[in-house]
Amino acid sequence: MHFDILIAGGTVIDGTGKKGVRADVGIKGRTVAAIGDLSGSSPSSRSSGSSGGATTADVEQATADRVIDARGLIVSPGFIDVHAHSDGALLIDGQHANGIRQGITTEIIAPDGITYPPLPPAKYKAHRQYLSGILGLPPEDLDMSSMEAARKNYHHKTSCNVAAFLGHGPVRMNIMGMADKPMRGKDMDRAKALVRENMAQGVAGFATGLSYYPQSYSDSLELVELCKVVKEFDLPLSIHTRDHNTERAFLGGGINEALELGRKSGVKVHIEHYRTSAATAGQVEKILEPIEKAKRDGVDVTLETYPYPVGSSFPPAFYPGSWQEGGASEILKRLADPRLKKQYITDLEKRPMRGTMAGNLWTWIGSEKNKHLEGMAWDEVAKERGVSVTEMVWDVMLEEGLTCGFRGVPPASTRLWRQVEADVMTLLARPDYMIGSDAIPIGGLPHPRAYGCFPRVVGRLRRRLGYPLEQVVQRVTQNPAERFGLKRRGVLKKGNFADIVVFDAEKITDRSSFEDPKVHPEGIPFVIVNGKVAVDHERVTGVLAGEAVP
Ligand SMILES: [Zn+2]
Repeated sequence: MHFDILIAGGTVIDGTGKKGVRADVGIKGRTVAAIGDLSGSSPSSRSSGSSGGATTADVEQATADRVIDARGLIVSPGFIDVHAHSDGALLIDGQHANGIRQGITTEIIAPDGITYPPLPPAKYKAHRQYLSGILGLPPEDLDMSSMEAARKNYHHKTSCNVAAFLGHGPVRMNIMGMADKPMRGKDMDRAKALVRENMAQGVAGFATGLSYYPQSYSDSLELVELCKVVKEFDLPLSIHTRDHNTERAFLGGGINEALELGRKSGVKVHIEHYRTSAATAGQVEKILEPIEKAKRDGVDVTLETYPYPVGSSFPPAFYPGSWQEGGASEILKRLADPRLKKQYITDLEKRPMRGTMAGNLWTWIGSEKNKHLEGMAWDEVAKERGVSVTEMVWDVMLEEGLTCGFRGVPPASTRLWRQVEADVMTLLARPDYMIGSDAIPIGGLPHPRAYGCFPRVVGRLRRRLGYPLEQVVQRVTQNPAERFGLKRRGVLKKGNFADIVVFDAEKITDRSSFEDPKVHPEGIPFVIVNGKVAVDHERVTGVLAGEAVP
């Protein structure tokens, strides 16, 4: 038998959680053609006691255009990232080394409903600028008018496969712009039709983020109506729980609203980045109480997390709905108005929307003039400018036309930080958990999760805390593929797409840190996407074989 690629002599961990077995993997075209002892050289010695569970294929003289020597290495399905803010980054640089070097062969973009389609050209331009602090600035002239159009922007133009959620943000933008009211009546009818039409074009689910606008303008009733349409497609609602406009929510927002949406609409619920924090470190069971209760009520719940103690976002997340109305152009007018500046700053300092602004750091700044702010703590910049932190952030947003982003600063106590990491691995031992990196791969000093999330979990933390490799792999391969309808992916078997990562179980680890984030991991020599080598001996190949999926 002749293969395009033969991965020889590795230990195959197939993604189902089954124990790894010694086997070769033969690839033809885009798919896995055979798994088993394909060496042909000494079949008797290679099959004894080691190939149980693997499909035995032709054992005679397998040949291949390319043989990858995987002796001593693990061969597993490529990792699937269920939460990646790469919508823009992938359009700016399809090579996407930060993701593919981690072994991520499929990224699910548009989490939190932060994304572009379905938006007509003028609205795409406006929303592109509004979201630039998280998504960067992809080309302005792309067709984002539907999910189908957006898929074409990625298909065969990126190193990894790209699946996308239909975003609640653009659905609302499309129907009513950045307007501060829940959708009802005719608007709701049009929104439901838009959701139905776009869900049918190939998506991973429907996503909303209720600390982001325009999503937070919604109320729970609006979400229930939209989720009833999502349910028709048997795909999940991926939700960042509400901390804005909580008076519009069932049960005060937060996790309780998210689960109630599942109860009321019947939709499957996927909770984004749900873990303990510095304040709740060690209290895993406590944070899971509402989840367990909802499951007893019949709600189908899955969850995701990432293994770092702090997050990353863009400054508009701090501001109330009134500030966001009208979108980028209106916000820029507000930012330039001294009277409004005084009013909003006074308000924010009295009643912060999402905790205080202190203790953050700029990760990316659009202009050359202010580039030196990347990596600077907000307190430091404010002091240098002789203003309060709140005022400094306001000024920088105006100077940058909103093109700026930040991250939190990890707790000073390493012990606390390690507890949060241990909690993440405790959560990941549950069969309903997966990993969403929440990567924001833009700027000079991004949050390290954009470069290191997966090897940190699969390597560093798994080894430190002693979890079985097969279990960890299942959580980042089969689990997400099944949940988000990624057909023929996530499990390594004959006939499935050849999305494969080859790594060293002892060496795989992240090297991206908070002070030096743009460093690729080690211990992941080969990554294959749709049967093409995307990473070869720890180097990106320039091959863009990623597809728009599912
Ligand atoms: Zn996110």
